[in-house]
Parts: sequence; C-alpha cells; structure tokens
Amino acid sequence: MLDVKNLSVVLSKRRVLHALNFTIRNGEVVGLLGPNGAGKSTLMRALSGQYPIEGAIKLDEHDLPSLSIAERARNLAYLPQTRIIGWPMRVRDVVALGRLPWRALGQRSSAADAEAVQHALDLMDVAHLADRTATELSGGEQARVLAARAVAQDTRLLIADEPASGLDPAHQIMMMEALRRIARQGRMVFVSLHDLTLAARWCDRVIMLKDGEIAGDGSPGLMMQPQRLAHVFGVRAHFALDTEGLILAPTGLIQR
Ligand code: ADP
Ligand code: MG
Repeated sequence: MLDVKNLSVVLSKRRVLHALNFTIRNGEVVGLLGPNGAGKSTLMRALSGQYPIEGAIKLDEHDLPSLSIAERARNLAYLPQTRIIGWPMRVRDVVALGRLPWRALGQRSSAADAEAVQHALDLMDVAHLADRTATELSGGEQARVLAARAVAQDTRLLIADEPASGLDPAHQIMMMEALRRIARQGRMVFVSLHDLTLAARWCDRVIMLKDGEIAGDGSPGLMMQPQRLAHVFGVRAHFALDTEGLILAPTGLIQR
C-alpha cells in the first residue's frame, strides 16, 4: 500500500501541494484528475523522489524518501509527462533500460530480463517495433516505448503522468487495459489523466486535485457527479451507463 500523509511541496517559495492525505491499495488503478496547473505532475514527481517534501510517504514497509536511488527504482517506476526519446537506440534496448535496477553493475542480462522486456513490449503493443531506432518513431510510438520501459521495471508501484495523452483511441484503450492488467497482478497504479471518459471507465478510484488540494477521492461513479465536475473542471457532462460501467462525455463549459 502507498500511504501519503500531510504531503506538502514548496517550489521556488510557492506552496504547490497542501498537506495531501491519500492511500493507494494493491490491485488498484487510481486516477489523478485535475485541471492544468492543479499540481498533478508535481505530486507524481514528489512521490518519485524528485522534490524535497514535507510529510510522509510510505510504500508498504518502506519510507520512500529515505530509500536509496537503486532501492526506489526497484519499488517504483515513474513515467514522466514528456515522453521524447533522445538517443538513437534500438527500441528493445530502450525498454531493457528498465531492467537495470535489478542487476548488479556489469552483470549481464538474464533470461528473466529478456522475458520481462518482451512482456512489456507486447503489453504496450510495440513488439513489432523492437528492432527500429527509437528516435525514428512517431510521438505516440515513442510514448508507448517509454511506457514499456516503465513496465519492464517490474515494480510494485507504477506512476504514469498522462500516459494516454497523444495516443490514438485504440491505443488509449490499450493503455488503460494494460494499466488495469498490471494492477490486477496485485500492484498499485497511479495515473494522471485529462480524459474524463477514460478515467470514468477504467479507474477503480479517482483522486481530484484542484489548486494543490484534494477536491475528491472515491469511486468514479461517486466523484464524477455534475456538481463536482463543475467545481473542479468548470464543465458539464453527459452521463450514461452500460454493462461495463460509466460513460461520461464533457459537453460544455459552466460559466464561472
Ligand atoms: P499539472 O501537472 O496538474 O498541470 P503541475 O504540477 O505541473 O500541474 O504544476 C502545478 C503548479 O506548480 C503550477 O502552478 C506550476 O506553475 C507550479 N510549478 C511547477 N513546477 C514549478 C517550479 N519548479 N517552481 C515553481 N512553481 C512550479
Ligand atoms: Mg502535468
């Protein structure tokens, strides 16, 4: 379980996150929703150890901020919002970077490493690109390759900042299905999303952030109600239900 208590982050003397409290349980896909500038990326960076924090972050028995970089990388994978691959490497080698935290320095990759890499390539639908040069792929393909790298890291917690942004509709659904499959192995997935439709349908729980504070934490059905969507996002939406769950489509602006 991830247990966050009174988490505050101050950047350039500005308090960006204000005493957040929440948990993520094993097996859950938790969506992080909120308008631009709400603090989603800051929260995800803080959890992955990139900012000094106030408060406590516990991942099972570990105190996250006090873990070494190597230990953290074996427990938590972080997929940043900006996903451009800078090095002209083979796709398979990019994904294999996710295995490094599991190897001693200089140790060669094992059959288990190769299997984890192949599994991640398949899960993110980039296996057919495995021998291509990563920098020559489209933006959406590069995004999926970097997601595969995070999956190959094989951690109990996966944090993904807007992994579905910029993907075509089929790959957005594939991404959400993949995250759900990862969670169903007993892991924790924390994913920020701008697409309320995807969030409503694929997240077990959503946490809403507004101005660096939690503005809602609960099931999509409970959280994504007209009043809260108006308050947090300034939109109204159309709601429907089918056998697989909630269908939500933003339809207009609320005058504020
Ligand atoms: P989101 O991901 O929800 O769009 P961010 O976490 O990127 O939002 O940003 C939240 C707020 O924190 C914004 O107002 C942004 O300007 C501010 N912020 C982000 N990084 C810094 C920084 N390094 N220094 C000062 N303010 C920052
Ligand atoms: Mg962001």
